[in-house]
Amino acid sequence: MSNGVIETDVLILGAGMAGLTCALSLPSELEILLVSKMPMPTGSTYLAQGGLAAAISEDDSFKLHLEDTINAGGGLVNEEAAIDIISAGPRLVRQLSSWGVNLEGSFGKGKSGIEGGHSVRRVLHHKDRTGRLISEVLSECSLERGNITVMEGAFAVNLLTASREMPELVENAVDRCIGAHILQNGTILTVLAGETVIATGGSGKVYRYTSNQDSSTGDGIAMAYRAGLPIINMEFYQFHPTCLFHPDKRNFLITEALRGEGAVLLNLEGERFMENYDPQRMELAPRDIVARAIDSEMKRLGNDHVLLDATHLGREKLTISFPEVTNGVTSVGIIPWEEPIPVVPAAHYTVGGIDAQTDGKTAMNGLRAIGEASCTGFHGANRLGSNSLLEAGVMGLKAADSIPGTLMDPDSFHARDWSFGRAEPLMENVLVDYAWSALRNVMWDYVGIVRSDRRLHRALRIIDVLAGEIEADYWTMLPVIGLLELRNICTVGRIIVKSALRRRESRGLHFSLDCPETKQPPRDTVIKLML
Ligand SMILES: Cc1cc2nc3c(=O)[nH]c(=O)nc-3n(C[C@H](O)[C@H](O)[C@H](O)COP(=O)(O)OP(=O)(O)OC[C@H]3O[C@@H](n4cnc5c(N)ncnc54)[C@H](O)[C@@H]3O)c2cc1C
Repeated sequence: MSNGVIETDVLILGAGMAGLTCALSLPSELEILLVSKMPMPTGSTYLAQGGLAAAISEDDSFKLHLEDTINAGGGLVNEEAAIDIISAGPRLVRQLSSWGVNLEGSFGKGKSGIEGGHSVRRVLHHKDRTGRLISEVLSECSLERGNITVMEGAFAVNLLTASREMPELVENAVDRCIGAHILQNGTILTVLAGETVIATGGSGKVYRYTSNQDSSTGDGIAMAYRAGLPIINMEFYQFHPTCLFHPDKRNFLITEALRGEGAVLLNLEGERFMENYDPQRMELAPRDIVARAIDSEMKRLGNDHVLLDATHLGREKLTISFPEVTNGVTSVGIIPWEEPIPVVPAAHYTVGGIDAQTDGKTAMNGLRAIGEASCTGFHGANRLGSNSLLEAGVMGLKAADSIPGTLMDPDSFHARDWSFGRAEPLMENVLVDYAWSALRNVMWDYVGIVRSDRRLHRALRIIDVLAGEIEADYWTMLPVIGLLELRNICTVGRIIVKSALRRRESRGLHFSLDCPETKQPPRDTVIKLML
């Protein structure tokens, strides 16, 4: 096992919508290292179905898009950030088109879609495979660029900071990022970079059920926290009401459009329970209300799922209009025109994240955070559907615009190599596996859709015990991805619990039985490690 040092102008951690748009928009004179722990195309970007919201049609305006975003955001939307992002939508759409991503509904092409909370059609899409097209095309483009080196299967472990490595670079008490340690093939590389960009996506894996890929372990958020950056509003976690409940097929989303076509939710006693929660809108109530109703029924009856009955649509309609869902559920033996589909809400979107401006600037020099890993305040306390691809893409463009053409020379940086000390190989995988499921279960059961102080305090105590054991393993075992990701979801879980305990009200996606009122003035929750 040997270590090595790599120098680059810009180090981008993550190759989803945010990382790719940033890499492709940077000037060709800059040398870029684009790192992804998963082979490309990847990330939540790859999974995005609905589309990308952009106010470009004649009956739409930035003002209307802003109003819709604010209405969804539970009083916490940062208007300045929202205006900045929304008004850059048309530029993003043109830029995507120049790279070869031509979405339905974009200038002169096809018809855009509409989703809950949008007052006009503004969701640009590619059938129900929008993210796949974006990921595939942008990944291809990045592989063709002479100034971009792509490193797949490479895992960013920690940020390298001046305060730890080169105190002389700390300016007026503001720390500087000088790169990251990257694990690849059992080796830890020291990557020194003039500018580092975190684009590592969300953290759905912190919960037992999630629509996210296995790689969404909040690594960037945890790394930034350990480096002393403020992490904000992590109590706002968006749950999608309907993911498939099946042991052989996890993380599989059952689109909201089925409910749009009349599919109904039933508890395991066969009751259409939405009439007890939102009798007017029933199954078409906003996502957080439906998710909360399902959670409440599961807790009331002691069940681990509910049912979505779409049998009335019949075989032909289901096969033609919902091929993704039909293929997905029939592959595990569920015949959706004959029987209801077992569903469960699932962690879907990390609204909070690393405190960042819309161009990704953070509280640390030389470090930006973009996309789902960041929090600009655009979504406030609740995300409007299809606004996240917009945010990730626009932040990628803006970060690239604002990264100076002349960066600090990484050749002038130095950092200690990773020290393996007396670390030993992890021989007992059961230690890691157990902690993974314990953590995800406690987050699901105690820190899920509806919270109480009692459950949150209990969760914190359990997580603290797990964290102690995980830290001990981290410092004594050779680094392996399962352990590093576990350490990160544990950090993120702890931040979510602490943020939830700190918010003494219910707002947006955070609902507390002990503090059901919404209080004024609205405030962000900030969690920061004191170094
Ligand atoms: C099922 C699903 C459907 C969705 N549908 C929509 C939709 O229709 N519209 C919409 O706007 N939003 C949608 N979203 C949300 C949206 O897809 C994401 O918010 C957005 O794609 C995030 O982009 P990103 O670039 O920030 O992160 P991601 O696309 O998640 O990319 C993260 C990247 O970071 C890499 N990475 C992570 N950790 C590390 C590490 N430690 N080291 C190195 N690399 C690392 C990953 O390999 C990946 O390359 C959906 C999400 C899901 C899960």
